[in-house]
Amino acid sequence: GWLLGCSVLLLLLTTGCFVFMLRTILRQKKLSEIKNDFINNMTHELKTPIATVSAAVDAMLHFGALKDPRKAEEYLHVSQNNLQRLSDLVEKVLNLAVDEKQELEFHTEPVSLAELLCELVADHRIKSPKTVTFNMHIPFGTTVNVDKVHFGNVLNNLIDNAIKYSYERVTISFDFQRERQGWQLTVTDNGIGIPKAYQASVFDRFFRVPTGDLHQVKGFGLGLAYVRQVVEKHGGSISLASEPGKGSAFVLKF
Ligand code: ADP
Repeated sequence: GWLLGCSVLLLLLTTGCFVFMLRTILRQKKLSEIKNDFINNMTHELKTPIATVSAAVDAMLHFGALKDPRKAEEYLHVSQNNLQRLSDLVEKVLNLAVDEKQELEFHTEPVSLAELLCELVADHRIKSPKTVTFNMHIPFGTTVNVDKVHFGNVLNNLIDNAIKYSYERVTISFDFQRERQGWQLTVTDNGIGIPKAYQASVFDRFFRVPTGDLHQVKGFGLGLAYVRQVVEKHGGSISLASEPGKGSAFVLKF
């Protein structure tokens, strides 16, 4: 009886150890996959604008584009846009990649939601090659207490994504509601949507929905992690409802 007890105990211990090791290995495998994905994205994202600016400068220095003022101006605009893109990317990565728990600097103040959105929407209209329609359902004079810079970045990220992960005709709606204890803003798009299985992961750092054309649409998988960090820092929460092929709705509650 004593011997049997010992054997069973030993067996249990061995199995336990085995399961533990297996889980550690699987976890590390997942982490290294995430790391690889990130490095791949990063390389792709940084190389493209650098190569473009290089080509533009090359054309001006060595291929006579400087002699044609219209060409030169075009190349300079291309360079400027790509440098801006690089700078945005570096900013994004630095904001998050260094340390997830790093403290963001916050100064909350009353901000006019409609005014802030109008500014952002105007920028996107200029930048986006797609046809984008914005619907704003925000009562006149609505102000919210937020950090203007970070909250602006949050909205920018959501608008960016809504345009990136969509078809040719994009409709983005903003719906504001005052609740008994606070307020709620929903950002809805009619884009490609997010399958149920991935909905919880999209807020994780470096996560991107593994669709076939992942590299057509550029990104690091950092935007929504930043969005969640900022929303939570305001004492709020973010949730998501989405249906593949129909669209997504991000609900921000404060
Ligand atoms: P990035 O866009 O840089 O990949 P994000 O953190 O902003 O990173 O988003 C993570 C992932 O969630 C995206 O790669 C995409 O697969 C998915 N996603 C985000 N927003 C949307 C959206 N509005 N519609 C469909 N998919 C989305």
